[in-house]
Amino acid sequence: MSRVYNFSAGPAVLPEEVLQQAADEMLDYQGSGMSVMEMSHRSKIYDSIIKTAEADLRELMNIPDNYKVLFLQGGASQQFAMIPMNLMKNKKAAYIVTGQWAKKAFQEAQIYGEAVKVASSEDETFSYIPDCSDLDIPEDADYVYICENNTIYGTKYQTLPNTKGHVLVADVSSCFLSEPVDVSKYGIIYGGVQKNIGPAGVVIVIIREDLITEDTLPGTPTMLKYKTHADAESLYNTPPAYGIYICGKVFQWLKKMGGLEVMKQRNEEKAKILYDFLDESKMFRGTVRKEDRSLMNVPFVTGDKDLDAKFVKEAEAAGFVNLKGHRTVGGMRASIYNAMPKEGVEKLVAFMKKFEEEN
Ligand SMILES: *Cc1c(COP(=O)(O)O)cnc(C)c1O
Repeated sequence: MSRVYNFSAGPAVLPEEVLQQAADEMLDYQGSGMSVMEMSHRSKIYDSIIKTAEADLRELMNIPDNYKVLFLQGGASQQFAMIPMNLMKNKKAAYIVTGQWAKKAFQEAQIYGEAVKVASSEDETFSYIPDCSDLDIPEDADYVYICENNTIYGTKYQTLPNTKGHVLVADVSSCFLSEPVDVSKYGIIYGGVQKNIGPAGVVIVIIREDLITEDTLPGTPTMLKYKTHADAESLYNTPPAYGIYICGKVFQWLKKMGGLEVMKQRNEEKAKILYDFLDESKMFRGTVRKEDRSLMNVPFVTGDKDLDAKFVKEAEAAGFVNLKGHRTVGGMRASIYNAMPKEGVEKLVAFMKKFEEEN
């Protein structure tokens, strides 16, 4: 068996230990004589899997009792519609546009009501997080929307925006469980799990209970009402059962690692190795404002397209894969999620140094 260092932005690297456990349990999950893929989501044994996963996530994130945890489908992109359908009582919401994902959410919300762009960093190709300390947020906005970590551009909010009392909704797909968060500051925290938690097909929504109501926009499908899933504890219909099982294993791995405080330290250490090199290198440089750098997604360029392509090709041959930047920005991007070992980053930097000397 030969595993590569996988710097993919998502679906992305998972802890090897978790994959090994899943392999061991593939044919016979804990004496049940079947795979988790083959069991009823209404069975006692599956109930224990989903309940344990939720309990472990609550413990890891210290989720207050007045928040529900929902395991849904449709990816993060489904939430771009589900959020306005459920929350736009006044048909108005404020959006801070810091990248492609925030922009898509903003555009989707326009289908349902008045989405107001209260700040944007599009003027400098999303290379920074705008000052959000005193935004002009409409009084009757139902919520303020952010994408907390911008997967494509590699920026992250270091402080949350001043929402002036409005509900904060955050897409945390690419920084989910990378560090501790104060859940009570948000109305909704959600993310697709394929970046930092598990296999594609599961989206986790952590939502304050008072935001779960019958009062959704007219025409909202049953499946797109938070209340449907909250009332049924994520078992209204067949959930993405196997994906949730893997998420549960990752939660247990995170607990064993020491929790989110320890993950934050690890992630800071890993990111520092790469950023320090980018700052001293004469060939490579980071592409975003230093204060706004993400710990998870690190975009960089040489400034020469052909050299970028050569780097990506040679890196791949050396076992460092998926370093090509997003198709909309070019260059390179190293996604260094929780499951990327420090050794992977150290070896990547050693490879970059060697490449710099040779080119
Ligand atoms: C990947 C990503 C998405 C899109 O997720 P899907 O599950 O493919 O819909 C949305 N937001 C962010 C921040 C992402 O990184």
